[in-house]
Amino acid sequence: MKSITVLGSTGSIGVSTLDIISHHRDEFSVFALTCHNKIEKLLEQCQQFQPKHVVIVDEQAAQKFREQMAGHKINCEVHVGAQALVTVAEQCEVDYVMAAIVGAAGLLPSLAAAKAGKRVLLANKEALVITGELFMNAIKQSGAELLPIDSEHNALYQSLPFKPFGQSLSEMGVNRLILTASGGPFRTFTADQLVGVTPEQAVAHPNWKMGQKISVDSATMMNKGLEVIEAHWLFNAPIQQIDVMIHPQSVIHSMVEYTDGSVIAELGMPDMRTPIAYALAWPKRIPSGVKQLNLLEIGKLEFYPVDFKQFPCMKLCYEALAMGGTATVTLNAANEIAVEAFLQKRINFIQIAQIVETSLEKVTIQPANDLEIILAVDAETRLITQKAIAAL
Ligand code: NDP
Ligand code: MG
Repeated sequence: MKSITVLGSTGSIGVSTLDIISHHRDEFSVFALTCHNKIEKLLEQCQQFQPKHVVIVDEQAAQKFREQMAGHKINCEVHVGAQALVTVAEQCEVDYVMAAIVGAAGLLPSLAAAKAGKRVLLANKEALVITGELFMNAIKQSGAELLPIDSEHNALYQSLPFKPFGQSLSEMGVNRLILTASGGPFRTFTADQLVGVTPEQAVAHPNWKMGQKISVDSATMMNKGLEVIEAHWLFNAPIQQIDVMIHPQSVIHSMVEYTDGSVIAELGMPDMRTPIAYALAWPKRIPSGVKQLNLLEIGKLEFYPVDFKQFPCMKLCYEALAMGGTATVTLNAANEIAVEAFLQKRINFIQIAQIVETSLEKVTIQPANDLEIILAVDAETRLITQKAIAAL
């Protein structure tokens, strides 16, 4: 029986994780569930899974939860505030941590789970974008198990030799990692057509049902760029060995090209329950509830190159990774602020990339091997980006 903390249980990945656990109750017990403020969902989840602890970051929401828990027959400890996220991630009773908080808010608890030697099921890609070096060092030093949840990285993990972390790709005979991208809802739009697109259009992803932030990131293809950075840290992959290909069907989730000409890929339906079930059960396999892939029904798989002019965020990600240091911290923080502003209709779609580019020019790059410096750069970038948006 493995005891699991689900960070961000009320989100898209959190809900899918609990769906799998609900079918494997004899193998997993829920230690803690966490949310920002969606307590209706959390109350429901607590009724079903009876966790020992919940963390609610927002104080008012926590108060409401306390008032309603008895009526819902829930008996658990309620913690308030972001620091408690770290506590439920590092507790010694916890075996597995699903890191599924969105954005930099997930960094400290994800890092805590890595330092505490847990099996870390990492969905929170931003943690690697911000603290790739520190995070991977923490995993190595603590002996934690790191299982990628992002479908592309999970596919690469499955297509690489056993336990790839730490070895160089060339030692494993790997030529290239090829990340596939659906191209999002605006794949066929011209740069001109992109100007007027709305948040509602941007979050309507053709293949995946996801949280708002990652949906906008998919529409700008910032998401794929963040995934390039994620792959760099996860698989010790030089930037030149990571490529992206548009594959609108999202059936091939990514591929590894080997020096002998072989290409190994992972295929399946676009449903996050597959990578989540893989990471929960690894090295075994368990049913995930996902429909089997039927290639005869799908018929054809297409592939296209990425156009950096149409999707400038992708280019910014490659550039920030090449700059090194805290450039990717700034990239991520500026993007989070810009996406929020776009969702609130304070900026238009193409301004997201422009704003991130400006912040990258303005904020000084520092070495990224010190958490305090990283957090200071993150905070500075958020301020500068907010000001730039207000001045528009
Ligand atoms: P959602 O927006 O659906 O869920 C986010 C979760 O984080 C919710 O539980 C939310 O709580 C919580 N949260 C939000 N802000 C804070 C905060 N400041 N402090 C604490 N908790 C917070 O996101 P997704 O599930 O889509 O994505 C989660 C992560 O997984 C992201 O990093 C994303 O990039 C990654 N990922 C997601 C995929 C997907 O298919 N969804 C695919 C691959 C990666 P509340 O509900 O109360 O707001
Ligand atoms: Mg992905």
